[in-house]
Amino acid sequence: MTIYDWIVIGAGITGSALAYELSKQKFKVLLLEKDVVPNNATVYSYGGLAYWSGTNQLTRQLCQEGIELHRNLSEELEADTEFRELDLVLTIDKEDDPIQILQNYSQFAVTPELLDLQAACELEPLLNPKAIAGILKLPHGHIHPQKTAQAYQQAFLRLGGTIVYEPVIKLLGSEHLIQGVVTSQNTYYAANTVVCAGGLTRSLLKQSDIVVKNYFTHAQLITTPPVDFKLRSIIMPARQQRFALEATASEIEQQSLWDRLDDQPIQSILDAGAVQFLDGSLCIGQISGIITNPNVKFDQSLAEVKIRQQVAKILPFVEKIPGNFHHCLVAFTTNSIAVIGNVKNWSGVYVFNGFTSPLVFVPPLARRFANWVAGKKDQIIVQLNNDCQ
Ligand SMILES: Cc1cc2nc3c(=O)[nH]c(=O)nc-3n(C[C@H](O)[C@H](O)[C@H](O)COP(=O)(O)OP(=O)(O)OC[C@H]3O[C@@H](n4cnc5c(N)ncnc54)[C@H](O)[C@@H]3O)c2cc1C
Repeated sequence: MTIYDWIVIGAGITGSALAYELSKQKFKVLLLEKDVVPNNATVYSYGGLAYWSGTNQLTRQLCQEGIELHRNLSEELEADTEFRELDLVLTIDKEDDPIQILQNYSQFAVTPELLDLQAACELEPLLNPKAIAGILKLPHGHIHPQKTAQAYQQAFLRLGGTIVYEPVIKLLGSEHLIQGVVTSQNTYYAANTVVCAGGLTRSLLKQSDIVVKNYFTHAQLITTPPVDFKLRSIIMPARQQRFALEATASEIEQQSLWDRLDDQPIQSILDAGAVQFLDGSLCIGQISGIITNPNVKFDQSLAEVKIRQQVAKILPFVEKIPGNFHHCLVAFTTNSIAVIGNVKNWSGVYVFNGFTSPLVFVPPLARRFANWVAGKKDQIIVQLNNDCQ
């Protein structure tokens, strides 16, 4: 019988990076993923690296570590993550006051540049000048998120790691000790199990009566095949509603709705944005909603029309281009930048999930976490571990 040092559940960007970093520390690691064809938040992500967005010493340090790590990641993993420096264009609504909107960004490490209508359209000619009052421009990084996850997985396999495609049904153990997992086909044993199951982390842990401060939104978006139009930047609204939506999660927790698996939407918002990948394909979105049932079904045609109409106000070319609708769960937490560390009152089980700015924070924190469990001191992981208790 094989006993692994670590089982990692979930092969999105989070689990893939962590499995690789744990293997680099010479642990014997099994990465378990339920889907052979990925259908997760990583695959539908814009791929933006918001390294300008640090608001305190901790997040500024992680932003800096994250962008530096990404700049060298293709070389380290021996596969192209499609990293590039790309402007982030934050559109300001016609009815908003640009100066007021700019002030909303004063807490970030990098101050955005405010561009008037003419300068905005010179920078991004596909913008509709009738819909905006101007833009904020920020230096941003960009990767292909799924190619990055795959690059981590390939490097993990080269280090001797194992990937198995089976859904984890439950954690194995009792009396507050987890000793492995049960999948649809097998039982796997490990000294430690770490859950990186994105939006499904909460329901998986709940089966073992483990409750973590981990929530999820339902994201709805459209992806397109390569198109002839050429976007020069990542487009998002300067007034993003998603953060306010996520903040309501703590109120929801008080009402214990999260444990009732309701189908009723608590709230849903649309942040109109788009990004183009190097092959010319686009990701256009996104509707975010809180519904505590992870398996709820959506009216696809209605959502697709809504997204196209809203995004086309800013970028008229998206109205008629071909595309496919997708839905995925996006994990988040409210009182920290992520849920990282060992689960309170349990042995052998950890969580590494629910990141704000996951694509910039996950690589440095996966490295730090692996070093920490290998016995090296790490104040940042200790702090985040305390936050999640
Ligand atoms: C439209 C959109 C745009 C975004 N843009 C950005 C952006 O620009 N920058 C940024 O930083 N973030 C962005 N995000 C968020 C970011 O993409 C996600 O938060 C991140 O990819 C989550 O990674 P993850 O590994 O935690 O989760 P996921 O990618 O969801 O992976 C979790 C994995 O766990 C697996 N799993 C779940 N349960 C089980 C089980 N029981 N057994 C086995 N496997 C299981 C799932 O199949 C899945 O593969 C965006 C998200 C969306 C939807």
